Amino acid sequence: MPEPVYQADVVVVGAGVAGLAAAHRLTSAGVSTAVLEAAHCVGGRMSTEKVDGFRLDRIGQLLSTSYPELGLTPGLDTLVLRPFAPGVLVHSEGRHHRASPPPAGGGAGGARGALNAVRALASAPLTSATPRAGLGAAGARAALSRATGSRTAVPRPAAPLGSAVDQARLAAALARIAATPVERLLARPESPARHALTDRGLPSRTVDGFLRPLLAALLCDPELTTSSRCADLALHAFARGRLCLPEGGAEVLPELLARALPPGTVHTGVRVTSVSTTSVTTADHGEIRCRSVLLATDAHAAAELLPGLRVPGFHPVTVVHHTTDEPPSTGASLLLDADRDGPVSHTAVVSLVDPSRAPAGRALISSTVLGTPPDDVDGAVRAHLARLHGTSTTRWETLAVHHTARAVPAMRPPHDLRRTVRLLAGLYVCGDHRDTSTVQGALHSGTRAAKAVLADLGAGPLHAAEPMPRAA
Ligand SMILES: Cc1cc2nc3c(=O)[nH]c(=O)nc-3n(C[C@H](O)[C@H](O)[C@H](O)COP(=O)(O)OP(=O)(O)OC[C@H]3O[C@@H](n4cnc5c(N)ncnc54)[C@H](O)[C@@H]3O)c2cc1C
Repeated sequence: MPEPVYQADVVVVGAGVAGLAAAHRLTSAGVSTAVLEAAHCVGGRMSTEKVDGFRLDRIGQLLSTSYPELGLTPGLDTLVLRPFAPGVLVHSEGRHHRASPPPAGGGAGGARGALNAVRALASAPLTSATPRAGLGAAGARAALSRATGSRTAVPRPAAPLGSAVDQARLAAALARIAATPVERLLARPESPARHALTDRGLPSRTVDGFLRPLLAALLCDPELTTSSRCADLALHAFARGRLCLPEGGAEVLPELLARALPPGTVHTGVRVTSVSTTSVTTADHGEIRCRSVLLATDAHAAAELLPGLRVPGFHPVTVVHHTTDEPPSTGASLLLDADRDGPVSHTAVVSLVDPSRAPAGRALISSTVLGTPPDDVDGAVRAHLARLHGTSTTRWETLAVHHTARAVPAMRPPHDLRRTVRLLAGLYVCGDHRDTSTVQGALHSGTRAAKAVLADLGAGPLHAAEPMPRAA
């Protein structure tokens, strides 16, 4: 038998947030761990490009302050989350209106309050909260009746979205979901989110004007093919927390995790080419022997190393970054498109949310296109952004267009939210494709996998980690 070139209790393949979170749990339990990452830096899909003082995320990162793993994962205690303005700003029919979750801690009382508000408002005339110049909807109806001399019912013109009734209905729907325990949400029948939204008897104005664009942005799924259970979880997180960005860019999160590991745990530039329960083989660093292997790669790479592992479909995502010296007046809000008359799903002046992402005097606008982008993506995005932000974009400068074909694993029903992480004793798998396709899901899958490894190791660690051999 050749001498082992390296020994560790556990080899983790992949230094995305799932693998790094798992490594934390393992090293904290005294288990020697080597994290092998093919790229030259950690973070996987959570990367940030630096261009002329700007910090440009590859991903249209939307985190929620209510993601439990952000508070529970060791190493993230110094993570700074920069919140967007409360709720979201929705653009519909040339107007902006704010859609807000119920006040924090609303719970069942908040749901009751919001429902009472809906009842009170529903019996009032259907007028817009911010009517256009001239007659309100009720006035327009009366004037039409007078002009025609008719006493027959005149069809009510729909008030623009964002009326007080709309706001109260949305607040009631969100308060209800915020007050529902997660176990009850997960016990509901499962169907594609787009069907569930209409089957639950919600008014189409609430669905089309708020919930559909909100869920498309949160799930990166414009057609809402995602399981209704995952959609409920996304709405639950939205209703209970604030949408936010990690200060400094998406890469800060994996970098914090990596920095808090014992020195020498993470090895970048090491591509794993095969795995077994007791060793991994690498492209340039030979064989590394161990007691357990945890695959923490994306779903495709995992299936290449372990043929037979399920590979889900993926939602492609394109993120376009622009800069200008005059920020649009939409402020620090996440701005959603409800009209679907352009490629942008959501956009924000992220430098107003997190000033560290742009040099002084410049605004950074980051916009997300879901699905297959149009041919002239920058031209189409600029034209759409002019309508969404209500300002000319012709002088905006394009900083980067990042397209990721396999961005977010699809979570079509039936979706197993807790896909097994233990394949057999000594071989484990984690990553967003084993949980929900979010940073929360990736971190949680890493924690679950580390627990499974620790349970199997039982007797405790055997080896002290040894230095990594040089590339062959
Ligand atoms: C464009 C985009 C937008 C997104 N938007 C959001 C959002 O708004 N909110 C949200 O919560 N989530 C979002 N996500 C999803 C989120 O980024 C991912 O769920 C999360 O980063 C996945 O982490 P992971 O550790 O599971 O996988 P990855 O980040 O994919 O990490 C896997 C690692 O394994 C490495 N690897 C692969 N093969 C090998 C090998 N053979 N040897 C060694 N190493 C290997 C890779 O290099 C990589 O570093 C988005 C993702 C994208 C791409």
